[in-house]
Amino acid sequence: MNLEPSFFKNQFNFSGKVAIITGGSSGIGFETARILLAGGARVLLTGRDGIKGEKAVRELEKQPGPKVNFLKADVSKPDQCEKIVCSTIKLYGKIDIVINNAGVFKANPIENVTEKEFDWIVDTNLKGAFFICKYAVPFLKRNRAGAVINVSSDAGLQGNKLSSAYCASKGGLTLFTKALALDLASFGIRVNCVCPGDISTPMLDKDLETRSDPKQYLNALTESYPVGRLGDPEEVASVICFLASGASDFVTGAAWSVDGGITA
Ligand code: NAD
Repeated sequence: MNLEPSFFKNQFNFSGKVAIITGGSSGIGFETARILLAGGARVLLTGRDGIKGEKAVRELEKQPGPKVNFLKADVSKPDQCEKIVCSTIKLYGKIDIVINNAGVFKANPIENVTEKEFDWIVDTNLKGAFFICKYAVPFLKRNRAGAVINVSSDAGLQGNKLSSAYCASKGGLTLFTKALALDLASFGIRVNCVCPGDISTPMLDKDLETRSDPKQYLNALTESYPVGRLGDPEEVASVICFLASGASDFVTGAAWSVDGGITA
């Protein structure tokens, strides 16, 4: 292996690459956009909230790198997944990297989970990723290259309390990742997922608001981590970008834990 300085530059060089990031206007998706753009990728961010999306774009345009676009779309609706893929092709002519990051969480005992709540969680976390892939795969196959990264969870590897619907969605996403990796390996397309533990993002903030004693809950949660702290969104984003990069060319079908040791 040639360990010249160019090796270190090239492995994380996304110049000329086109990436889709769903749910990219906050948290892990937003930090992933920051890294990909800094590495030279052209990025289509998607999300449900146009105002939040435009704010994210303004923030991202402050850093050097290619222009970023935002598309308002709800991934829980398959026709909007198709719209995301078609808009990317219209804007950039191809797709190299797909990051299925959009997700929702609500802690609830199963007796209180309505069909509507179950559908909201599963349709966003699992069905959305499935249909983005369904529509993106023909374009990835055309390149005979590409990387799909699904943002699963530690709850996609193990059961968590009060999370039956969320675990069902993320467990499904982890195995969907592995199945698709097998189907696409011979086309040079890699499919992996990251499985974050608790990360300080708006999703965690929203969850804390529902707890009877948020401060005590947060302390207990933090203490449960072997590393003694929760994660930051950029710590997940850097692993996503590693899985999108040439540095992980022999990695496919993997469920990559980014969880401070909580599943160890
Ligand atoms: P976040 O709330 O900042 O990000 C989630 C994004 O998804 C938001 O921008 C939200 O608007 C978007 N979204 C939700 N429903 C959508 C829909 N139907 N269509 C399009 N966009 C939609 O929180 P985050 O922590 O950055 O979450 C990113 C991913 O990480 C999620 O899939 C989540 O399940 C996963 N995750 C988060 C944690 C954590 O502790 N924060 C842990 C494990 C996994």
